[in-house]
Amino acid sequence: MLEGKRVRIKAKDRIFEGLVMPSATDTLVIKLDSGYNVGFKDYELLEVIEDEKVVVESPELERKAGLPEIKIISTGGTIASKVDYKTGAVTSQFSAEEIVSEVPELAELCNIDAELLYNILSENMKPAYWIELARGVYKTLKKGYDGVIVTHGTDTMSYTASALAFMLSTPKPVVFVGAQRSSDRPSSDAAMNLICAAQAATADLGEVAVVMHATTNDDFCYIHRGVKVRKLHTSRRDAFQSVNYPPLGKVEYPSGKITWMAERFKRGERGLELRDKLEEKVVLIKFFPGLRPDVLEYYHQEGYRGFVIEGTGLGHVSTDWVDTVKRVCEDSVVVMTSQCLWGRVCDRVYDTGRYLLKAGVVEGEDMLPEVALVKLMWLLGNYDVDEARRKVGENLVGEMTPTTGYCGKVL
Ligand code: ASP
Repeated sequence: MLEGKRVRIKAKDRIFEGLVMPSATDTLVIKLDSGYNVGFKDYELLEVIEDEKVVVESPELERKAGLPEIKIISTGGTIASKVDYKTGAVTSQFSAEEIVSEVPELAELCNIDAELLYNILSENMKPAYWIELARGVYKTLKKGYDGVIVTHGTDTMSYTASALAFMLSTPKPVVFVGAQRSSDRPSSDAAMNLICAAQAATADLGEVAVVMHATTNDDFCYIHRGVKVRKLHTSRRDAFQSVNYPPLGKVEYPSGKITWMAERFKRGERGLELRDKLEEKVVLIKFFPGLRPDVLEYYHQEGYRGFVIEGTGLGHVSTDWVDTVKRVCEDSVVVMTSQCLWGRVCDRVYDTGRYLLKAGVVEGEDMLPEVALVKLMWLLGNYDVDEARRKVGENLVGEMTPTTGYCGKVL
């Protein structure tokens, strides 16, 4: 068992040294001193440098009267990787004491309890995990906590945030936070993001939000609406951007000053309610020139009744899709979104769009494709097809900006 131990190995005619990380396969994963993880299949073990795990000494946490009570639920991702790194543990004990010893500023803002729900990279998330998380957040809020912070990998954070936004009506902040760079790297955004998230979790907010670096400097974070945000860069610290709606607010660092920037659900505005059913047989299809409509037929025959299409421009697929779309629409919901991301779908401008509307397609307005996917999973989990078709075009939790008139501002 090498996990958690420091080793020196020879691979590809070079010597590598670092800490052995947990790995689900037979690949040896080493965290190098630069902070990068590297995997090796063929290697020669030269030396186990330290045979002892490094134990993190954590001070006893003192609760301060009058501070808000916040629960941190950890699901994994880069933001959790420092704790792995130091303890070398396969399943890190992500305790409140450990978090506060890493980011002591948090203890000035709130009293923290922590729960390790998962320790996974977010590409391994599944709808069943979204449900378990929603139940966990619901129970936490029911116990009287003032807010919840969910630490999460950045790759699919907005899917999970959207799933919670539909499943959970919350009177308090539910704040997702992650990191683009792990906390053992000099340019890490982990601590600042967590501090900003704590500011948002104790603020006058009553919805699911995502808090991440707003710029490449350490000057402020944005509070994004969970159903209006997307990771738009693979590695930059300001990768998260609100799309088709302004960020709800900004949190200055280190002062913690919050400036609200858009209409939001406020603390206490909505009741606490959980509707945690999701239909998993919903698919998101990105159209490209030449893609044949058989792909719709395939999923339809597999029993799928929810389809989100990421169409071109204002919301198009090629004209040879129309007959298939019409057949599928008879007993399914088909929603059109746009690959452009920015702007609103309008199928009333070109012929193709008009044919699609006639075939039964619902315009996804200015919803992000992945948000439309999660929304449809939730709707088909809770309503019959006709009701789901009606509701998918309505704004439920701020996922689409309502508009009046002919395709809103498009024309
Ligand atoms: N692939 C990682 C994840 O999403 C990246 C990160 O944590 O930010 O879990």
